[in-house]
Amino acid sequence: MVITERSKMKTESATNDNRCLHLGKVGWRECLLNDRRVGPTEHVSVAAEQAGMLHGIMIDLDLNIFDPGAFNAKAPQSPTEFFDDHVARWLDRSTLLRKAEARCSGNGIHVLLWLDPPIPLISASDRKLWDACIRIVQTSLPSDPDAPGLTSLTRPIGSINEKSNLEVKLLREGQPVTQDEIITFRNEMISAPFKTVHRILAGDEHQSPCPICRKDGTTLTAMDRTGMCYGSCGKVKPERLLDVFLRPRRSEGRTK
Ligand SMILES: [Zn+2]
Repeated sequence: MVITERSKMKTESATNDNRCLHLGKVGWRECLLNDRRVGPTEHVSVAAEQAGMLHGIMIDLDLNIFDPGAFNAKAPQSPTEFFDDHVARWLDRSTLLRKAEARCSGNGIHVLLWLDPPIPLISASDRKLWDACIRIVQTSLPSDPDAPGLTSLTRPIGSINEKSNLEVKLLREGQPVTQDEIITFRNEMISAPFKTVHRILAGDEHQSPCPICRKDGTTLTAMDRTGMCYGSCGKVKPERLLDVFLRPRRSEGRTK
């Protein structure tokens, strides 16, 4: 009972109105499930089997796992620079992702798709289906392959990232999205994974030179399920497009 009371004191539900309450809170997290608790991780985490309502989907773009060499001459020096120079353009190329909220997480960018109405998760099979759907949405960007799906936690605006000491800031206001919009995007990612990811990251169906081998005279052409590098790599899987951005050590975790 005592623990419950203390837990109530240390957590709040996330709304736009109480953002100022999170100012200076070190290491706080915001849950995307149930009543969207905000507070220390141990007070707001929800186990997958206790997920009853899904409010948002997060794609975690952690600069620490990005390969600075992937950005040609100019590797981003801060999460804000990363957003302005790269992530904003990626999001704008997708009819779904351009509706996402973007936060500077202190380590990188949290891309957040807020659901309106939220999605009730009634059964274990609902939770399993939505966890799988979220993981597909997450692979549309070079996100952390080890990140959780359904149980992702973001950081509340105004709080302090305990690792970087940077304040969590709103970089772009989002618009709510519907379940149907998420499912449509998931279906595109299943039927044309290479073309969808390539369009988001490159904005076109061709890149010269190929971003994977980077050899002079090569061209990467996006087809629905694979790419073709003329001149060097040959047939390319969608995962390779994402791994171009990630340090090799971490990219090994992605399911091939
Ligand atoms: Zn190539």
